[in-house]
Amino acid sequence: MADGSQDCLFCKILAGEIPADIVYESDTAIAFRDIKPQAPTHLVIIPRRHIATINDIGDTDQAIVGSLFSATSAIARKEGIADDGYRVVMNCNAAAGQTVFHIHLHMLGGRALGWPPG
Ligand code: AMP
Ligand code: ZN
Repeated sequence: MADGSQDCLFCKILAGEIPADIVYESDTAIAFRDIKPQAPTHLVIIPRRHIATINDIGDTDQAIVGSLFSATSAIARKEGIADDGYRVVMNCNAAAGQTVFHIHLHMLGGRALGWPPG
């Protein structure tokens, strides 16, 4: 395929070619611990489908993208941060600091988080 998935780090994690600490799996999404955590709880939640950026989300991807958020709430309860609170972030392209071009939610919790972000 020429959709970029062959060179994609997160597709390699999905394929089991690169190890990750996977904490959640469903038919459409998985979540794993960020290798460089920015908070006591820092998870990366990704769709199984390779979508490079938010700009590439199409009308037919609505259920997949929605499943990232239902995964988020389930994981927050499991991680024990649902009531205290946490932040969900998705960076898009260079100005926002996106470095892996397979859409992903960052889930950050376990400490107080400042606002606005840098
Ligand atoms: P972004 O900069 O928004 O594209 O986020 C990419 C995230 O992926 C960063 O927070 C990285 O620390 C994280 N990351 C990169 N490689 C790995 C890996 N092998 N396992 C887990 N997380 C990773
Ligand atoms: Zn990918």
